[in-house]
Amino acid sequence: MKQLRAIRGMNDLLPEQSPAWQYVEATLSELFGRYGYSEIRTPTLEATQLFSRAVGEATDIVEKEMYTFEDKSGDSVTLRPEGTAGTVRAAIQSNLLIQPQRLWYFGPMFRYERPQKGRLRQFHQFGVEVFGIEGPDIDAEILIMTARLWRQLGISEQVTLQLNSLGNSDSRAAYRDALVVYLSERRELLDEDSQRRLERNPLRILDSKNAQTQELLADAPCLLDFLDEESAAHFTQLRALLDAAGVKYEINSKLVRGLDYYGKTVFEWVTDSLGAQGTVCAGGRYDGLVEQMGGKSTPAVGFGLGAERLVLMLETLNVLPESLVQQVDAYLVAVGDVQSAALAAAEQLRDDLPWLRLQAHCGGGSFKSQMKKADKSGADYALIIGEDEAANGQITVKYLRSDQQQQTLALTELAALLQG
Ligand code: ATP
Ligand code: MG
Repeated sequence: MKQLRAIRGMNDLLPEQSPAWQYVEATLSELFGRYGYSEIRTPTLEATQLFSRAVGEATDIVEKEMYTFEDKSGDSVTLRPEGTAGTVRAAIQSNLLIQPQRLWYFGPMFRYERPQKGRLRQFHQFGVEVFGIEGPDIDAEILIMTARLWRQLGISEQVTLQLNSLGNSDSRAAYRDALVVYLSERRELLDEDSQRRLERNPLRILDSKNAQTQELLADAPCLLDFLDEESAAHFTQLRALLDAAGVKYEINSKLVRGLDYYGKTVFEWVTDSLGAQGTVCAGGRYDGLVEQMGGKSTPAVGFGLGAERLVLMLETLNVLPESLVQQVDAYLVAVGDVQSAALAAAEQLRDDLPWLRLQAHCGGGSFKSQMKKADKSGADYALIIGEDEAANGQITVKYLRSDQQQQTLALTELAALLQG
């Protein structure tokens, strides 16, 4: 029979990789908690309409990247490609928006893309969404929080913040018209993708990777020249807050983001340590979305952070804590007819030493083969119970990573020894 394999672009998280993921998940959830953010978990599968309405019909995601199918009752459902739409739906549905909300989430997202380094079909995002606060202080807060995250993970030097403002929908529309006029006059010089976008989603041309298109854009009208007064003031205040907080940024007037719901602030944290897929975290303000989704008008801002890209970055830059490699502290070796004594001793040790990660050997075998496994486990100690030890209520400690002499002692004394 042909061997079954995981779907292309959908990875298993193997045991050797899970410590890095646990570290990242623990670091982020703790950080979000320190800023007073609460976790929200929404379904992975939602009505297709949710995404076509929230994310926008003309976006790459809705046009070509969604996993959409009919369920058994003929309803069109979609594996979520991003987390904001579901969070907004849940917040409206459960009436959370009567007061400001600071929310975070973590989970798998699905996009039918061409898999490559840092780009998968099932990937994971951490996300933050804040509802009900319209001032630039909250935009600053989520950026300051992310800056702290980079410091905590040891990658501050490798990420830069790119910042832009898209203005309100009128100023954006005015800019779109000016851009379309400029680019239409030079249509034949645009790459094929950008020609198609000229009708559908002209702002997206700004982040075309095509060199000739980029050259053309150098003299194109600038988004920031079109900002309405309120958006311009919001942007100025945000910049002042970031300056005061010591968060460095670059203004990138071509940064538009691929989702339709953004207005005013948009940003990306980018790195060049990942090759082509250089955006680790991206987001912005989406004041119109809640109302558009049927809720009462509520300002909102948030970001999504690609977990695979983050883990890849930590591995590439070699900044994962060394302690992550070691999975167990001690390995219990049980030789002879001592199974019940060994199980009892292991439980006793777990009672006495809650911090001790103890792997107990199961399945018998010679002393020599069990010691090999103890060594391979990465443990610092082999704790040995043979028939003599079992008869006397004792245990032998053998140090696997130092020259210290092995010793045999009462089980009750072992806790004190390891504690010390
Ligand atoms: P890109 O320009 O790289 O396609 P995007 O603009 O589509 O990114 P968002 O929708 O803003 O990305 O998602 C937020 C973050 O999620 C991205 O910055 C990235 O870190 C991560 N991400 C997006 N798509 C993928 C993917 N297919 N595989 C892995 N991570 C992804
Ligand atoms: Mg994309």
